[in-house]
Amino acid sequence: MLRVLSLIIVGVAIFFQGCSEVVFIEKVNSQKQLDVRKKGEFPEKDSNQLVDWTSYPSHSTSWGENVTGVKTTFYTENKEIALTFDACGGQYGSGYDEKLIDFLTKEQIPATLFINKRWITENEELFVELAENRLFQIENHGTEHLPLSVNGRTAWGIQGTNSPEEVFWEVVGNQEEVKRITGRYPTMFRSGTAYYDDVAVEIVEDIGLQVVNYSLLGDAGATFSSQKVKHALLQAKPGDIALLHMNQPQSGTAQGVIEAIPILEEAGFSFVTLEGYELR
Ligand SMILES: [Zn+2]
Repeated sequence: MLRVLSLIIVGVAIFFQGCSEVVFIEKVNSQKQLDVRKKGEFPEKDSNQLVDWTSYPSHSTSWGENVTGVKTTFYTENKEIALTFDACGGQYGSGYDEKLIDFLTKEQIPATLFINKRWITENEELFVELAENRLFQIENHGTEHLPLSVNGRTAWGIQGTNSPEEVFWEVVGNQEEVKRITGRYPTMFRSGTAYYDDVAVEIVEDIGLQVVNYSLLGDAGATFSSQKVKHALLQAKPGDIALLHMNQPQSGTAQGVIEAIPILEEAGFSFVTLEGYELR
């Protein structure tokens, strides 16, 4: 049923750029496992599941930000919100919003950071600092920041991946980069543009990650003014996942967040990272 070839534990060394693929497989298991950790503990995930991308169809039945399987909220009985910040990389997306990160750190506001491989390449020292900061959960925002499609569909003018194999590498390329630097594989994935088709979502899940989008549009691709960011965040409900950016320091994002957070705290909200929560 699951098109998982097998669950490979540890030892999957992948020489990715320009070289070839799987070199070493140590142990094979047959059951899919989800990595859930207790709040506050560093997440344990030391493998990707290998999938046989030839077993997936190269046609899909749905396309968008909310296709089946994509998680947009988390379950909580408390007044909790999850802030997520994307770092997209590329020519116009490799900046670092120091004001934002300094504020979160000073105020001890946890957040989940979805980071693209291109951003890591441009900012490796900063990436290490972020990964070592216990406030932040580091997750996977793709290798080339592509919409995740098995047949080359386009979102926001960006041509997506064009086969199940390209979907696989868009995810795993950055999995390996994060693992190389932090020692840990991400457990959550958000594609560049946040678009997917149904088959692509299935492939990500079979590799062993949850696909995470959002329920609250925080900065609309870092295009909102600070007032709009603030207004958007003040609409938050418990269990919301807010999508914002940490790679556009000239945007209104930092100022909007700085203004909204004290008001939300005053209203009884607190902020959490996503690990350990049931995503829906
Ligand atoms: Zn992005």
